[in-house]
Amino acid sequence: MKTVDPANLANPANPTRSVKMRVAADRSKCMGAGMCALNAPEVFDQDEEEGLVVVLEPEPPAEHRYAVRDAVNLCPAGALRFEED
Ligand code: SF4
Repeated sequence: MKTVDPANLANPANPTRSVKMRVAADRSKCMGAGMCALNAPEVFDQDEEEGLVVVLEPEPPAEHRYAVRDAVNLCPAGALRFEED
């Protein structure tokens, strides 16, 4: 049986290669719904004053890839961006 390092799950087509991710948030679009912090709490938070998104990890580790994608897709304001190499 082949064992895959979870750190390499970012690229299932080539599990020997890690993929670098970058996330960014446009706080002017954020409406404080909190879906991002709920889905990827290691990567996103909300500020105390307005409840707007704060990116904790602009280059999150590969193990958060799926949570980050969910957060980006579920953001009702379209305030999040996700890129990977
Ligand atoms: S899910 Fe979108 S709208 Fe809600 S807090 Fe996060 S960035 Fe803001």
